[in-house]
Amino acid sequence: MSFHLVAKKLDVMFPDAHCELFHKTPFQLLVSVVLSAQTTDKKVNECMTPLYKKGFTPQGVVKMGQPKFLSHIKSIGLAPTKSKNVLRLSQIILDEHKGKIPQTREGLEALPGVGRKTANVVLAEIFGEPTLAVDTHVFRVTGRLGLHQETTPAKCEFALLDVIKTKYLPKVHHQFIFLGRRLCKARKPLCEECDLRRYCEFYKNR
Ligand code: SF4
Repeated sequence: MSFHLVAKKLDVMFPDAHCELFHKTPFQLLVSVVLSAQTTDKKVNECMTPLYKKGFTPQGVVKMGQPKFLSHIKSIGLAPTKSKNVLRLSQIILDEHKGKIPQTREGLEALPGVGRKTANVVLAEIFGEPTLAVDTHVFRVTGRLGLHQETTPAKCEFALLDVIKTKYLPKVHHQFIFLGRRLCKARKPLCEECDLRRYCEFYKNR
C-alpha cells in the first residue's frame, strides 16, 4: 500500500488536525507536553490554560516555586515529580539558554522530564522538523493500518519514518492522533465510519 493514498484520505478526513494542547508560547508547549505523560490533553489544558492566559514563563515558574506550582497541577498524574521537573527545566532554560527553549534534540533531551517523544513533539510543532512522536494513538492506529509490525513505540517511530515521506511530516502526526481519538478508538474502533477501511489491515482481517 502506498502511504500517499492514506495521506490523501487523512487530508480529507482531518484537514484541520492540530496540536490539542493549549499553549501560547514554545515554553508553554514544552511544559504541557511534559505534563501530558500518562494524562489526557484535556486534563492538562484544564490545569494550564488559566495560567497560560495570564502569562507563564520560566521566570514566573521559578518565582512561583514548586509547592505552589504543584497546587495548580495536583489533579494531573505524577504531579509531584512533574512539578519538580518543570521547576528544574525552567531554571536550566534561564541559566543555560537565555530563557528560550533549546532548538536541538540534544538540548531538549538534556532537560529533566524530557524524553524522545516530548522532544519530537516540540521539534515538530515549534520548529517544523519532520519528526514523528509516537504516542499511544499513533502506535495503535498505524499498527492497525499495517504501517508497522513493531512492539514498542521506539521501534515504531523508525519503522514509520521509513514508510512515510518527510513531506507528510509533521502534519500526519496530528492526523493520526485525531483518527485515534475520534474513530480508531482503542477498545472499539468505529470502522464503519472510517474512510480508511479499504487501506486498513485490521479491517481487512477482522
Ligand atoms: S478502518 Fe477501523 S481499524 Fe482501520 S483505521 Fe479505520 S477505525 Fe481504525
